[in-house]
Amino acid sequence: MTAELISVGTELLLGNIVNTNARYLATQCAELGFSAFNQTVVGDNEPRLADALQTALERSDIVILTGGLGPTRDDLTKETTAGLLKRNLVRDERSFQRIKSYFSGRNIKDIACNNYKQADIIEGSIVLDNDDGTAPGLIVEHEGKIIILLPGPPKEMTEMFRNKAYPYLVGKTDGTIFSSVIRLIGIGESKVAEMVDDLINGKNPTMATYAKEGEVMLRLTAKATTREDAMDMLKPLQEETRKRFTGYILTENPDESLEEIVVGLLKKAGLSLSSAESCTGGLLAGRIINVSGVSEIFKEGFVTYSNEAKVKRLGVPTATLEEFGAVSVETAKAMAQGCARATGTDVAIATTGIAGPDGGTIHKPVGLVYIACSFGGNTVVEEYFFKGSRDRVREQTIIRALDLIRK
Ligand code: ATP
Ligand code: MG
Repeated sequence: MTAELISVGTELLLGNIVNTNARYLATQCAELGFSAFNQTVVGDNEPRLADALQTALERSDIVILTGGLGPTRDDLTKETTAGLLKRNLVRDERSFQRIKSYFSGRNIKDIACNNYKQADIIEGSIVLDNDDGTAPGLIVEHEGKIIILLPGPPKEMTEMFRNKAYPYLVGKTDGTIFSSVIRLIGIGESKVAEMVDDLINGKNPTMATYAKEGEVMLRLTAKATTREDAMDMLKPLQEETRKRFTGYILTENPDESLEEIVVGLLKKAGLSLSSAESCTGGLLAGRIINVSGVSEIFKEGFVTYSNEAKVKRLGVPTATLEEFGAVSVETAKAMAQGCARATGTDVAIATTGIAGPDGGTIHKPVGLVYIACSFGGNTVVEEYFFKGSRDRVREQTIIRALDLIRK
C-alpha cells in the first residue's frame, strides 16, 4: 500500500515553522509498512490544495492531510476535500456537543460562532475525536482510497493519529517495516560507506548511512508481514555490521545524545568530572549540564580564556605559556592537570584552540585545537585541525572532548 502526506499551511511554505508533523507521520507510515513516496507542502489556498489532493489521490492509496481544520477563514482543508470528493458538509451532533463542553469546561462563555464550523464533517466520514483541542479529525473512504484529515497542532495531531488513526490503519496494512540504527563515532562517512558497500545493495533488508554532528549513523531496515519477522530478518545484518565496526560503535539507541552517554558511563563507574575551557568558553560544561541528574558527577567548570586565568585558576606555569603558547599540547595538558588538582575530581577535561576567524598563523592555523583529559594520574592530549566557522570549530571540539571522556 502506498501512502502520502500533504501538510497544509502557509507558515510552512514561508519557513516560519518546521514541518514536524510530516516527520512524525513519515515514521508512522514506515512502521505501518506503507510505502510513502511523496510529501507535499501547500499553503492555505483552496485551488492549490485541491490540485495537490487530486494528484495525491491519483497515485496513492492513502492520503494524510494535516492542518487547516480550525475555525478561521484560512482553514479550508475540510471544505476543499469535500468539494473535490463531491460530498456535503454536515453538522455532527456529537462533535458539536464536545466543542460546547470543551469551552464550558474552560469557563469560556463568549464562544465565537465560527468555532462550531469545526463540528461540520464530510458526509459519510469516520470522526476522530480531538481530546486535546476542538477540531475533530476525519477518515474518508472514497472509491477505494483512504483520506485522513488531522489537525495542525502537533500535540493534537500525534495523539489523534496514534490513538485513533493508527489502530484503524493497522487493519489496512499489508506488512510492517522495522528499522534499527547503529551509531558510529571516530570514523568518517566515506570510510563507513566503503566498509559496508557490499551490504548496502540489498533490497530487503536495506542499509543506509547518514553523517550527523560528528557521528555516522547506519540505519538498517527490513520489511516483513510482522514486526517479529522483520526483526529476525535484520539480525544477521546487525551482527555483521557490529563485527565490522568494533571499537567505533557509540550506541544503538537512536535518541541518546553523546553527553547523555558520557554522563551515564561516569555515573556507572562512580567517577566525578570537571572542565577547564578556553576556546569552547563554557559550552562544553553547558552541554554536559544539559543532562538531567548530572549533579551526581559534574562538580566544576572553569572558563579560563586569558593566559592570566589559566595561570591563576589552574596553575598553568607562565613558562609553559611563554615557551609553547596558549594553544599547545603542553598548555592543554597543564590545564587538565591543574583542573584535576583544583577540583579533586577523578576526570578533568580541558580545551584550548584557535576557533577563528582571526588569530591563525601558518604554524598554528584557525581550527587547531588541543583537547586534554586527565584521569588517574595520566593525561592524554589530542590534536585536531578542524575546518569551518568559529561555531563549527567549537562544536567539533565539544564532540571530540565528550568522546575523549567516554574513551
Ligand atoms: P487550529 O485549530 O489551531 O487552527 P488547524 O488544524 O487549523 O488548527 P493550522 O491552523 O494549519 O491547523 O495550524 C495550527 C498550528 O499548528 C500552526 O500555527 C503550527 O504551530 C502548527 N502546525 C501546523 N502544521 C504543522 C506541521 N506540519 N508541523 C508542525 N506544526 C504544525
Ligand atoms: Mg488553523
